[in-house]
Amino acid sequence: WRKWKRVVRVLKELEEGCETPVGRLRQVVDAMAVEMHAGLASEGGSKLKMLLTFVDHLPTGSEIGTYYALDLGGTNFRVLRIQLGGRRSSILSQDVERQPIPQHLMTSTSEDLFDFIASTLKHFVEKEESGSEPSPVRTRELGFTFSFPVKQSSLRSGILIKWTKGFAIEDMVGKEVVELLEAAMVRSGLDMRAALLVNDTVGTLALGRYHDADTVAAVIIGTGTNACYLERADAIIKCQGLLTTSGYMAVNMEWGNFWSSHLPRTSYDIDLDSESPNPNDQGFEKMISGMYLGDIVRRVILRISLESDIFGPVSSRLSIPFILQTPLVAAMHEDDSPELKEVAKILKETLGISEVSLKVRKLAVRICDVVTRRAARLAAAGIVGILKKIGRDGSGGTTGGRSKSDVKMRRTVVAIEGGLYTSYAMFRQYLHGALGEILGEDVAQHVVLQVTEDGSGIGGALLAASYSSIL
Ligand code: ADP
Repeated sequence: WRKWKRVVRVLKELEEGCETPVGRLRQVVDAMAVEMHAGLASEGGSKLKMLLTFVDHLPTGSEIGTYYALDLGGTNFRVLRIQLGGRRSSILSQDVERQPIPQHLMTSTSEDLFDFIASTLKHFVEKEESGSEPSPVRTRELGFTFSFPVKQSSLRSGILIKWTKGFAIEDMVGKEVVELLEAAMVRSGLDMRAALLVNDTVGTLALGRYHDADTVAAVIIGTGTNACYLERADAIIKCQGLLTTSGYMAVNMEWGNFWSSHLPRTSYDIDLDSESPNPNDQGFEKMISGMYLGDIVRRVILRISLESDIFGPVSSRLSIPFILQTPLVAAMHEDDSPELKEVAKILKETLGISEVSLKVRKLAVRICDVVTRRAARLAAAGIVGILKKIGRDGSGGTTGGRSKSDVKMRRTVVAIEGGLYTSYAMFRQYLHGALGEILGEDVAQHVVLQVTEDGSGIGGALLAASYSSIL
């Protein structure tokens, strides 16, 4: 039984290291709001880049006509076409085509990549338009969602800061992204104009707003995590005299890179970070998003396996980075069979650990729970940080002797997407629970997390529509 004593010690250490009492979450909320201020005050003022998007106008529902979008943000890219009816939430039709990017094009030249994209787009346009009556002579408008870090200088211009997610096309870093796309469209003989360049979170914000006028922010928690929100132009101090027609601008926070000493960090996080290709980068993302949660759980199981024999002989699989993916963590966590059959199956098939007792399977579930609970609660704190920054956390009206519960809270909608939130029920539950704890139920009842779908693509097309009606 000495071995269990060690196991209990490791587990206890993990639990304590991952603790997120509401007091600590409030510190994270405050730190997020403070960093947002700092990132808006000066270029490089914070780990939060707080990138300007130049989107100062979101869809209202009055958009009408046919618009296209191109969504490039990972191993797939999508082209889509939507037809808008001119009323809120009236997307009359929607056609999508998904294409994997051939591996060799991810490390080739920008010309090769964009020729491939433009020809796919052209093919899609011709196919979609062949059945319908010829559209009035008008250049087709396209929203280009490009989910890599871009320094924008206007709605439709911006240069690639660096590649991520396995892309490495050297000649493209520092180049104008839209110019490259448009040159390729010209080469392929496609009559289309890229109306704007947006990040996926901005697309999600646009789609959220199209459906609901109270939408003020968007959060994505999938393979990675990021958020954007609508900021007052005069609060964007690093860009003095910024002119917008609405007085607002969407700001892409790049919140995956948020860091604060209040974040509960364990030795597993430190190791994961130092062994990653981007150490000291994306600290918040590494505690929250789908790319990493599975690997934190793997590291804990490996440690326990090295310190005791409860998982049997140390499986070599346990040393393979990222072998345990987050959907499997969810499957173990949510296994409600009395014998934890799913847990046994995953331990065996994925991690090479077989024949473990029910008690050991329960331990595996416990580890998944601790890691996921921390992630979800931190994500909730991040969301409240945004609400605090824009005065929607219910604390704004405490002056004048009114108590928090008297404050008239406006309905506040946050559009949300990503597999962690949409497909992992325990993650979602913990996130909601923490929102209630931090805000108090009086305030939390006015905050709506609204799932949107395909905001990165549809939102891009909606923004193209929205801008074509005002420019
Ligand atoms: P992406 O972020 O890759 O564009 P998604 O937003 O759909 O796409 O998120 C996919 C990610 O969500 C996956 O990488 C995975 O980590 C996570 N995920 C998907 N399904 C689940 C699930 N059932 N449980 C937990 N995590 C999931």
